[in-house]
Amino acid sequence: MLMNDLSHTLDLAVIGGGASGFFTALRYAEMAAGKHVAIFEKSSHFLQKVRISGGGRCNVTHACFDPAELSKHYPRGARELHAAFYHWQPQDTIEWFARYGVTLKAEPDGRMFPVTDSSATIIDCFLERARQHKIPLLVNHALIGIKRLENDGGFELTFDHHAEPITARAVCIATGSLKDSPLLNQLKRLEQTIEPLVPSLFAFNVTDPRIAGLAGLSHPQVAIRREGSQAARQGPLLITHRGFSGPAVLRLSAWEARAMAETKHHFPFVIDWLPEMDMESLKARFADIRQNQGAKLVRNTPIPPIPRRLWERIVSCCGIEDPMTWGQLSKPATQSLLEGLKSARFEANGKTTNKDEFVTCGGISRQTINFKTMESRKVPGLYFTGECIDIDGITGGFNFQAAWTTAHLAASAIARR
Ligand SMILES: Cc1cc2nc3c(=O)[nH]c(=O)nc-3n(C[C@H](O)[C@H](O)[C@H](O)COP(=O)(O)OP(=O)(O)OC[C@H]3O[C@@H](n4cnc5c(N)ncnc54)[C@H](O)[C@@H]3O)c2cc1C
Repeated sequence: MLMNDLSHTLDLAVIGGGASGFFTALRYAEMAAGKHVAIFEKSSHFLQKVRISGGGRCNVTHACFDPAELSKHYPRGARELHAAFYHWQPQDTIEWFARYGVTLKAEPDGRMFPVTDSSATIIDCFLERARQHKIPLLVNHALIGIKRLENDGGFELTFDHHAEPITARAVCIATGSLKDSPLLNQLKRLEQTIEPLVPSLFAFNVTDPRIAGLAGLSHPQVAIRREGSQAARQGPLLITHRGFSGPAVLRLSAWEARAMAETKHHFPFVIDWLPEMDMESLKARFADIRQNQGAKLVRNTPIPPIPRRLWERIVSCCGIEDPMTWGQLSKPATQSLLEGLKSARFEANGKTTNKDEFVTCGGISRQTINFKTMESRKVPGLYFTGECIDIDGITGGFNFQAAWTTAHLAASAIARR
């Protein structure tokens, strides 16, 4: 189809030339030969987030092939995605890319990247597929108005700086995060409920003597929870110039995104530096060290896997200074060290966006979408895919997988219309 064919009614107008928009258009073109689909992108470039994703490597999906297990990685949308993954899951993503010459590889932690380690491979694949299907790709087309036409005649779409509206029988909103989107009012007018839009996947800003000067140090396994909540998240932790980051922190930020936003990202939280040892085992470990290595300096005897420099700092911040040995540790000092290791309390005073991946929590309410088709329950012919929906995952390729899955469902349903 040529550009000037846009004067005719499109079968499908995809709004947003990002991950989910491209995948919706491509899957639709594959399933609905002869139908007319175009992608409208507000900026001057397509697939910008794909380009910068995964530090430029694009973490396309995650090597987790059981829908029930996979859905556990989504703080919002787990139930809906669980069912959706039976229709399109990481194995389908891997096979789809392989069909077009893009091989994905899994890293030991399950994250999957193109073997080229370059997001350009994914972008080139999408652009080439769009060219093969002759899908018009229109940059500098920001959708600013959606009007329903009478008698199920589809939609009239108005774009910024373009006088001529475009008509389409079906519209797929694939605009990514709706935070600050001028489309919000349009969508509300179409009776779509919007769940509050707040950040997810961020690092915690912390100023504290226990970590001052330790930037760059990582701990392989901690458990971390917001004070007042019992739900701890485990994983590696990284000390940064601003505070804490790393998988455990990002996971907690995702699961507690709403609660943390309510306090404007100022909140107390608690770190267990030795999650694999409960309090009783740790007390037994202390007793054992005291008995067998009682003459050793406490500072010189880190309990693995706590890194030595961090151990020294924890010990000193518990008031245990050289030349204190294990044998000399008083009861209060022992208690203070136990607490400093198992329930170290910190205060977050703000957040820093994770540079590798961040997403918006909130968006089009899942209740107003039919998850078999991704069609609005209020407005027939209006579909939603990707991050504009109130769905988000933790880091690891889960957010792109949600984009591919919702795009496949929408494309299949629109092709059946
Ligand atoms: C730095 C960074 C790294 C990331 N890395 C990863 C990763 O490695 N793995 C992973 O799974 N996830 C990653 N993510 C998350 C992932 O990028 C998103 O979940 C995913 O891009 C969502 O796809 P989408 O198509 O819904 O939205 P987007 O990719 O954001 O695309 C939406 C597009 O719509 C356009 N648009 C918006 N409004 C309009 C309008 N009114 N009219 C027309 N066009 C419009 C935008 O310009 C944009 O091009 C990362 C995110 C960031 C910020």
